[in-house]
Amino acid sequence: MCCRLCGRPLTGADSRRTGLGPTCDAKLHPPGPDIRSRRHEVVQDALPGIDDTP
Ligand SMILES: [Zn+2]
Repeated sequence: MCCRLCGRPLTGADSRRTGLGPTCDAKLHPPGPDIRSRRHEVVQDALPGIDDTP
C-alpha cells in the first residue's frame, strides 16, 4: 500500500489506516491553528528505512 498523495510506501499502522503518509496526512488534516508555533516540531515523517528525499 502506498500513500494516496505522494505514492510513498506506507509502513506505519496509522498511515495504512488513513492511506496517507504522516506528512501528507498532516497537510490534509492540520492539527490546529497553533501549527505555526510548533512547525519546528511537527516534521516527523522521516522513519527509519524510508528515503525522505524528494
Ligand atoms: Zn504522501
